[in-house]
Amino acid sequence: MVADLLQRYPQAFETLKRYFGYDSFRAGQEELIGAVLDGRDAFGVMPTGAGKSICYQVPALMLPGITLVVSPLVSLMADQVFALKAAGARPAYLNSTLTQGQQNTVLKRASEGWYQIMYVAPERLSNPQFLTFAQAAAAPGGIGIPLVAVDEAHCISQWGQDFRPSYLEIARFVDSLPKRPVLAAYTATATERVRADIVGMLGLRAPELQVTGFDRPNLYYDVRELGEKAKRAWIASYVREHAHESGIIYCATRRGVDELACDLQLQLMPEGVRVGRYHGSHSASERRENQEGFIQDSIPVMVATNAFGMGIDKPNVRYVIHMNVPESIEAYYQEAGRAGRDGDPASCILLWNGNDFRLRRFLIDQGDVSEESLSLEQRERARQNRYRLLGQMEGYCQTTGCLREYILRYFGDRGALGAASELRENGCGNCSNCRTEFETEDVTEAAIAIVRFVAPRSRRFGKTVIAEALHGANNEKLRKFRLVEAPGYGSLADMKLGRIKDVIDQLAGRGYLEVSQGQYPVIGLGERSREVLGEGAAYGVEDVPLPDFTFTIKRPASKRMKERSRKVADLLRDEESVQAAGRANGALGVAAAASETVPERPHLGDDAELFERLRVLRRDLALERGVPPYIVCSDKTLRGICRLRPSSREELLDVPGIGEAKLQEYGEALLGAVAAFEAEAVADETRRTTK
Ligand code: ADP
Ligand code: ZN
Repeated sequence: MVADLLQRYPQAFETLKRYFGYDSFRAGQEELIGAVLDGRDAFGVMPTGAGKSICYQVPALMLPGITLVVSPLVSLMADQVFALKAAGARPAYLNSTLTQGQQNTVLKRASEGWYQIMYVAPERLSNPQFLTFAQAAAAPGGIGIPLVAVDEAHCISQWGQDFRPSYLEIARFVDSLPKRPVLAAYTATATERVRADIVGMLGLRAPELQVTGFDRPNLYYDVRELGEKAKRAWIASYVREHAHESGIIYCATRRGVDELACDLQLQLMPEGVRVGRYHGSHSASERRENQEGFIQDSIPVMVATNAFGMGIDKPNVRYVIHMNVPESIEAYYQEAGRAGRDGDPASCILLWNGNDFRLRRFLIDQGDVSEESLSLEQRERARQNRYRLLGQMEGYCQTTGCLREYILRYFGDRGALGAASELRENGCGNCSNCRTEFETEDVTEAAIAIVRFVAPRSRRFGKTVIAEALHGANNEKLRKFRLVEAPGYGSLADMKLGRIKDVIDQLAGRGYLEVSQGQYPVIGLGERSREVLGEGAAYGVEDVPLPDFTFTIKRPASKRMKERSRKVADLLRDEESVQAAGRANGALGVAAAASETVPERPHLGDDAELFERLRVLRRDLALERGVPPYIVCSDKTLRGICRLRPSSREELLDVPGIGEAKLQEYGEALLGAVAAFEAEAVADETRRTTK
């Protein structure tokens, strides 16, 4: 099936190489493109950064007529059109940022068949002028609409976070055309329910479905429990150490953004590090200025609410720090996933403490204004759902297992689960838990004592009361509830109170106990409690022979290994290990297919120095043309040049990300820079040896 595309549509590979400079497709791309070229509907579920755009851009550049791309994000449209133009294609977008005059021009040129691909917002599909154009284009003898691609397709589902009623227009629009185009949908949303919704509401016909791994091997996950002050101090020192890299720091509230940004500005501005901030109540001009500075690499770090980043396609974000806990793993993965879209190593760091969860629970209990129209029962269901999602987030913060495994298991697609079981055995080696040495401690006896103590009073007391009773505390609450007389009282007197609570958490995490939802959670028996209590548990009998049960927990034995700093030289070195990891993960390695490797040859001078030189050149080239640096080329391309040291146009084409248009536009400048650098290196070398 995979080699198939090459045989059936060799032009797809030529298109990929010519416009995008890549040699091979990533997991899922081939199948989705093959289906579209065959005239079949397609549905791609791929995590952010996996390369969804290529899936419709390549067919759009191959098929006669104009491909329509429905996208909710206006700023992303301009970006994509920018990038496609730079690659030598003929793209356009049609949205409300254009004046009426500009819109007329775009539609006129479109009906003359000038564009290969056009991005539109969903609202456009009910605009009469646009409908007239589309009807004519799809009619016999018209220019043809071979494909309608729906980006961010989860916006069609009311169950998703970003429901856009105008997405409901898409099916009607497609059906109204004289000739039905191929319909293709793409999303990064994982839940089954939303996926089913997308297929149904769009009216996809027997689509080719590709769900690619959610693993992002280039992302390093890190979770740290820190008090409020410690969080700030940690962030300041991290940003200082990574001042030459792009990063985003997310805070839960607008106030949090302003406070942290102010704090960092005071500390870092004197050192020449600019700190941006972004949230909904800043003025439009301040937001624009900050966003542009970030994209242009003049503001390295941005403190923001999660509103920042939605429409931003910046590929070289090297770290995303969460100052607070997001409401769900899904939200976390989406925000953290804005790091490392270029496939290079990047870090996702979550800072948390108990306050974060208290705040979240408070917010859940408050309810959401958007729910005012719902019935009480519906609202209660929504609340329970939010608690469930938050509970899973709590598990992520507390697990001592591999963080990557935890996330993949959460998303639960089959490909990822295979990888997850393997990760459970061996760990991923690229998350803070896998890099921390834990020692195991056998706490079987304590575990049994706890579960036995909970059994007769399931769901009546919170964690603290239970831990205090077992520890043998003597306070008013315990006396009032007569727990001081209960069997088991004081049986864990030798264990520290905090340790008992840890064991309770871990018992809950593994299903032996259950923690209720609500602001004052209570502890009950979990679905696996019988494994501890034996069959008698069902009848409330405590004194039954225990089955074979052991319970161990882990705790950090050594300090965390020093984190890898991600300086360019390291990146150049790391690249190979990331690629090796990608290969080991097989098809899941979205970031690094084996073919993205750059062949290396001996070269002169230091790669990191050359990289800096090229970065400056890139910035100048970008400024001359008024585009962001990453439109000129990615960091990966620059590093490819450092390693390959091309000396001819043909060799330059072997560097990932260099296609014909880029070769044309920048080839001379890049080759010139390499040649000049090597000549200087030779001169230096000669001077040194003749001295
Ligand atoms: P998504 O829309 O899924 O978030 P993008 O389409 O923006 O992801 O792609 C992410 C990055 O991966 C881009 O820089 C893109 O050029 C790159 N990419 C996509 N497909 C390939 C490929 N086959 N080989 C190499 N790089 C690719
Ligand atoms: Zn791990």
